Amino acid sequence: MNYELLREFCISRGIEVRLDEPMSMHTSLRIGGPADIALFPDESSFPELIRILAAGRIPYIVIGGGTNILVKDQGIDGVVIFTSKMNSIALNAQRSTLNAEAGCSLQKALNLCVENGLSGMEGLAGIPGSTGGAIAGNAGSFGCEMKDVIKSVNLLMPDGMIKELSADDMGFQYRSAKIPFGSIILSAVLLLKKDEPFEIKKRVANFINEKKSKQPVSKASAGCVFKNHKDTAAGKLMDEAGCKGMRVGDIEVSAVHANFFVNTGNGTCDDFLRLMDMVGSKVKEKFGIILEPEIRIMGK
Ligand SMILES: Cc1cc2nc3c(=O)[nH]c(=O)nc-3n(C[C@H](O)[C@H](O)[C@H](O)COP(=O)(O)OP(=O)(O)OC[C@H]3O[C@@H](n4cnc5c(N)ncnc54)[C@H](O)[C@@H]3O)c2cc1C
Repeated sequence: MNYELLREFCISRGIEVRLDEPMSMHTSLRIGGPADIALFPDESSFPELIRILAAGRIPYIVIGGGTNILVKDQGIDGVVIFTSKMNSIALNAQRSTLNAEAGCSLQKALNLCVENGLSGMEGLAGIPGSTGGAIAGNAGSFGCEMKDVIKSVNLLMPDGMIKELSADDMGFQYRSAKIPFGSIILSAVLLLKKDEPFEIKKRVANFINEKKSKQPVSKASAGCVFKNHKDTAAGKLMDEAGCKGMRVGDIEVSAVHANFFVNTGNGTCDDFLRLMDMVGSKVKEKFGIILEPEIRIMGK
């Protein structure tokens, strides 16, 4: 692996570089060992950066808000690229589409819709993290998914070329998009419908209130740990298998919503994985169903 070219490139572009950066500072779970190198580029540096990483055979991953990931205690080899400095958002002239960079917070995009009487994203109210992360995982709730508002996505391919993809090209499925390994969502155009701002605001407020009453939103979590099984909510299966309140170390199955594991203090990735195993076994024993993780597990 050749880091010299990378170092020179970051200096020449003024890209912020942090070495041995604790990932626990960048995840909603507050878990994760150090990333060898953390980079915070702006949009204009991305294509060349990817080419340099490929040329130096340096492994990399991209992170948005860190709200859907579980990072190993041993940390992450290579480079972690953060999208937080790529965060502009603008309405088009006809005020029917939004152009959002990947690092822009999803809730900021939703707020802009609310202020401008644009409907389509209300069901995504309260989902933390970035727009790019929401697209990569086709985030959704209340019957609304990110794919429903995607007109096009600018995707940086592992060879440094940028492609404009339609929603169909993105191969969206339940909590996933089919993008090539190593590709990075740079920005997206979101297509919305005009509606009464007051009505949109009311729907958003209702969805947020419902989430607050049914999810441990103020606790350190990464949202739902497991995917739903066909039409049955994973949380319901876990609840009925008696998983609420189970814990390993400081990681606990929330008493409010069984599919949320919360870090009550100094929980580790190892604790989290052990609890996932225990809960998965209980559900399998009771229902014969093997739960699939929804959170992305990464690191050494
Ligand atoms: C309290 C709470 C409630 C939640 N509620 C919901 C919910 O209702 N519905 C739901 O779907 N999720 C929910 N989540 C999970 C999470 O917030 C969403 O999945 C969110 O969209 C993840 O965005 P992020 O930017 O944090 O992604 P990250 O966690 O940073 O990354 C997630 C994955 O996306 C990839 N990724 C991120 N950015 C890019 C990019 N620009 N290009 C390519 N790949 C990228 C990462 O490599 C990683 O594999 C919740 C989480 C919490 C903590």
